[in-house]
Amino acid sequence: MIPYGRQEISQQDIDSVVEVLKSDFLTQGPKVPEFEQKVAGHVGAAFGVAVNSATSALHIACVALELGEGDWLWTSPLTFVASANCGLYCGAQVDFIDIDPNTYNLCPDGLERKLEKARAENRLPKVVVAVHLCGQPCDMARIKALSDRYGFRVIEDASHAIGGKYQGEFIGNGRYSDITVFSFHPVKIVTTAEGGMAVTNDPELAQRMDLLRSHGITRDPARMTHEPDGPWYYQQVVLGFNYRMTELQAALGVSQMNRLDSFVARRHELAARYDGLLSELPIITPWQHYDSYSGLHLYVIRLKLDEICVSHRQVFESLREQGIGVNLHYIPVHTQPFYASMGFAPDDFPEAMRYYRDAISIPMFHGLTFDQQDAVVAALKQALKV
Ligand SMILES: *Cc1c(COP(=O)(O)O)cnc(C)c1O
Repeated sequence: MIPYGRQEISQQDIDSVVEVLKSDFLTQGPKVPEFEQKVAGHVGAAFGVAVNSATSALHIACVALELGEGDWLWTSPLTFVASANCGLYCGAQVDFIDIDPNTYNLCPDGLERKLEKARAENRLPKVVVAVHLCGQPCDMARIKALSDRYGFRVIEDASHAIGGKYQGEFIGNGRYSDITVFSFHPVKIVTTAEGGMAVTNDPELAQRMDLLRSHGITRDPARMTHEPDGPWYYQQVVLGFNYRMTELQAALGVSQMNRLDSFVARRHELAARYDGLLSELPIITPWQHYDSYSGLHLYVIRLKLDEICVSHRQVFESLREQGIGVNLHYIPVHTQPFYASMGFAPDDFPEAMRYYRDAISIPMFHGLTFDQQDAVVAALKQALKV
């Protein structure tokens, strides 16, 4: 089976992890800060807070932005459930903005219309999570302008987008948002097995997230309510969690980050090759913004169902039967039973539903060979019966 995504592990990666195993620190040592500086430095953010997953990073980002009961978090329905769940963890309510049919990201016009309506009803969101689906950046300049006008904070869920650029600058530099979150799950562009990071330019937010990832405990006298009782002393000053990343993960991350640019370049090479090989087929290939450089975490095709005599499901099943590990990113979050029970109906977000009925993620990862790619294309032709 050719999977839709797969990690790339080098001997250098393995050696880095083994070195940590032989060292004094398996957790809370020097590798986590090194990894944080490496990621923040690369993307152009002032601070990085490494945690055990992007889900945890989204959670502490929301807490740091003081999202709570009575507040609203808005995001795209076309994302992994974690982009929305983080709002519920904080006791806030969640709502969605339908996608733009070209970018598959939340539609800025739709966002503006919904904000206008929400202002009249006095239920403006406190936080908007902008998800860069497949690595294609959202229209961040527009979202930032709306955030200034309507007073919400912005988190970029860049789980698909590390190494990508928006207007010539790395995603994560914080020009248009408060906090950006990356995921290091093995299917993503860079991996630490499990892991995530929140980056920001705001020292206050960075400090809060640093406290939140480790029980709300500080050993810094400057952050305590009184002088330390002695050298053993620490204080819990807020309610935090144990969301720490291990040294093993951070060592793997540091080593992987050395190859980030080549990871993304290889994805672009593969995408350009797919674009050519698939151009004659009754499908829509991914749209790319002229002023953006996608991280290309995913390569999503959309079937032109009115031009073929097979169904979406038949194409999907045929590809799986032919050993192509295709997937579907994502089942619109608002249709998940947990969200449907809050009152969302499928057709509340029709563009996301249209996407769900004809989208397929085909293999896209660093180690995919041209021969494997040709096999994917041949299998797709077979599946489409063209
Ligand atoms: C993978 C992913 C997450 C969650 O990442 P974890 O590191 O697995 O917690 C969140 N949002 C998006 C868009 C993702 O793709």
